[in-house]
Amino acid sequence: MLDIASYPSPNWNERPAGAVIDTVVLHYTGMRSGRDALTRLCDATAEVSAHYLLEEDGRVFRLVDERKRAWHAGVSHWRGRDNLNHTSIGIELVNPGHEFGYRPFPKAQITSLLSLLEGIAQRHHIQQNGFVGHSDIAPSRKQDPGELFPWAQLAEKGFGIWSGRDGTSTSVIVRRGQKNDNVVKFNEQLSMIGYHIDDIQHFDIATEYAVRAFQAHWRPTAVTGLIDIGTARILEDIANQRG
Ligand SMILES: [Zn+2]
Repeated sequence: MLDIASYPSPNWNERPAGAVIDTVVLHYTGMRSGRDALTRLCDATAEVSAHYLLEEDGRVFRLVDERKRAWHAGVSHWRGRDNLNHTSIGIELVNPGHEFGYRPFPKAQITSLLSLLEGIAQRHHIQQNGFVGHSDIAPSRKQDPGELFPWAQLAEKGFGIWSGRDGTSTSVIVRRGQKNDNVVKFNEQLSMIGYHIDDIQHFDIATEYAVRAFQAHWRPTAVTGLIDIGTARILEDIANQRG
């Protein structure tokens, strides 16, 4: 049984009437310590929060009731929807992040996360494709939870989808600035998965950010923003599973 400590944050409001919770957004805190993160997430002037925070040693804090709207996603887009705070549960994993010394998420932290997700998925009937990273829904602004996050391990338990395709080849197919049939196909696949792509014809900066986010999630061995053979194989597979 997961032991959850109550640590209420004032930073929440009501979800819109009729909002159905169907998404879980995973974050890292990106601060020097878990204590610093807890303080900030409970500071009324910061106006940020999450439903849960998980320390590296596996301790779990509940900051906001799941039924309420926590403020973790910010400006966000996914699968044609804006403002993911309306319909999601936000979970912060303590990790210094790319700014302060990004490091692997410890086993104890992930064990607690899996246990927490089991309860959330049951309570809200979250589908297998309802688990995303902050970087997926805000790719131009956010890098969390990043390429060290164990998405494959979550997917094994039914939290998220995964591809078994070989993603090792880094031979580049297309990069930013190019415009051809491949670009249209890849943009369409990114859109099918859920990424917000404005201009399907061009490999512009928005596509590059989406590719980076995709790689951090599904092809973490090389996060480049370039579409290479390995990325293309996995992209096609994930888009098919989604579509
Ligand atoms: Zn985040």
